[in-house]
Amino acid sequence: MKTNVVIVGAGPTGLALACQFIRYGVDFVIFDKKETTTPHSKAIGVQARTLETYEQIGLADKLIEQGAIAAKARMVVGGEVRGEVEFGEMGKGLSPYPFILLVEQGKHEKILYDFIKSNGKDVQWQTTLESFIQDESGVKAKVKNANGEIEEIEAKFLVGCDGAKSPVRHSLGLTFEGSTFERMFYVADVQIDWKFNQDALMIFLMKSSLLAFFPMTGENQWRIVGTFPEEFAKDEGEVLYEEIEERIKQDTQLDLDITKVNWFSTYKVHTRHVNKFSMGRCFLAGDAAHIHSPAGAQGMNTGIQDGYNLAWKLAFVLKDKAKAELLETYNEERLENAKILLETTDRMFNLVANPNWFISFLRTHIFPYIAGAAFSIDAVKKFAFPRVSQIGINYRNSSLSRTDGNFSVRAGERMPYFLIAGKSVYKNLTEPKFHLLTFFDGSGNPPDFPENFKNQYVDFVDFHDLPLYPNIAETFGAKESFMVLLRPDNYIGFICADVSLEKLKKYLAEEFEQ
Ligand SMILES: Cc1cc2nc3c(=O)[nH]c(=O)nc-3n(C[C@H](O)[C@H](O)[C@H](O)COP(=O)(O)OP(=O)(O)OC[C@H]3O[C@@H](n4cnc5c(N)ncnc54)[C@H](O)[C@@H]3O)c2cc1C
Repeated sequence: MKTNVVIVGAGPTGLALACQFIRYGVDFVIFDKKETTTPHSKAIGVQARTLETYEQIGLADKLIEQGAIAAKARMVVGGEVRGEVEFGEMGKGLSPYPFILLVEQGKHEKILYDFIKSNGKDVQWQTTLESFIQDESGVKAKVKNANGEIEEIEAKFLVGCDGAKSPVRHSLGLTFEGSTFERMFYVADVQIDWKFNQDALMIFLMKSSLLAFFPMTGENQWRIVGTFPEEFAKDEGEVLYEEIEERIKQDTQLDLDITKVNWFSTYKVHTRHVNKFSMGRCFLAGDAAHIHSPAGAQGMNTGIQDGYNLAWKLAFVLKDKAKAELLETYNEERLENAKILLETTDRMFNLVANPNWFISFLRTHIFPYIAGAAFSIDAVKKFAFPRVSQIGINYRNSSLSRTDGNFSVRAGERMPYFLIAGKSVYKNLTEPKFHLLTFFDGSGNPPDFPENFKNQYVDFVDFHDLPLYPNIAETFGAKESFMVLLRPDNYIGFICADVSLEKLKKYLAEEFEQ
């Protein structure tokens, strides 16, 4: 079997990457040792940046239809509700999706899988990676298929989306350093009979533990995530459900009846990342490259963004539209992001479960009373939303990012969200290409690039000539005409105060031409 890219693993990372390859017209083979998509709820928090990328392939609305917006959080201390925070529109004006969407991973994966099938492709289920080798021209993977036969897949590139224990990472000899939390987590999807309805996330603030109930679709259905106390001596797999139920009742200090248990699991949380996201023609994405605490609902979303970053680079190199060195920027950009992610999720976990008396005092006696007011302040929203939603992730330090001029938005940042004639700017940025946006201030001649230049880059760049509307001038901190070259993942590659062909050509030649 011959293909361009072989994807190992069809969890959310592998499936979302396959969807991107369909978008770019890249041939691929994807396989997984499982029988089909997960039946479990697992990762339920879907972030705005994921929805923005799904919008380009028509999947954002499908996901929203299947889920619920996390609108409110209620904070409970010692069995009493002590505060409420509204955050259903926390990112208003910052993204077309100003919220966190709650949708079960099972439903999410099914939407991605249906997209793959509706485009004439499929996942090879019950197919396990046995081994692989690579040389300068390609990769050969040996797999055992559903009939127990060994097959060989020849590809130009391989992407390991094969989860935390990643056989691909092990074969490549990459390290996965970090630490493992001593505390054990539990997760349970249950039906609860109690006085609260499903309009809010319930956060139970305690001295040294974490407990949260997430409303799910279906009557009285909740996802519970919690930690056992530090002194709890059992290991993963040794815990009985009865112990979990006992713990939940003790920690909530509320009168509740768990009437049905759909799924429960216990796990230890690791905080680790690889030393490198790629080796030769092989790449890692998702949990195979980074794992961390579930605080902040970041893991799956990060895996999806890894694939989104890699897909366009592989597509452009495979189609000879860019030099092979472009692929090195995948590690450059995503490794830095993984390092920051681990620090942030560790910090978030510390805030919600640190037993230190002072932090615990703030958490249980101060935070619930001030959180509601704090989250209604615009500055707090503008600080918190970009961090949680992943719209604030930037590649300013990337070798692909070049800022020429004085702007409040710099190269390496995601294209900010704004409206043009009442319509989201992203609606015009769905073609899987670079986008050159020239904003004209109305003085002198409008910027115009020669036809022969446009023809030369017709497969590479979409050209958009726009007036410099006041909201755009304000967003970018620009008073005069300027241009922005967006990469296919809608990150700014080049922003320049001088709308001239010369500087643009220089950037394109230096970064992409072979
Ligand atoms: C309780 C809990 C709650 C969470 N909540 C959130 C949340 O709200 N938001 C969020 O963003 N993240 C969340 N996460 C994290 C999220 O679940 C993971 O980050 C995500 O599932 C990783 O996806 P992945 O595709 O990279 O890996 P996986 O989902 O692990 O998929 C890897 C796939 O590779 C396959 N595979 C492995 N080895 C082989 C092989 N040799 N051959 C073939 N196939 C192979 C496996 O069968 C598997 O299907 C949560 C995690 C937990 C445990």
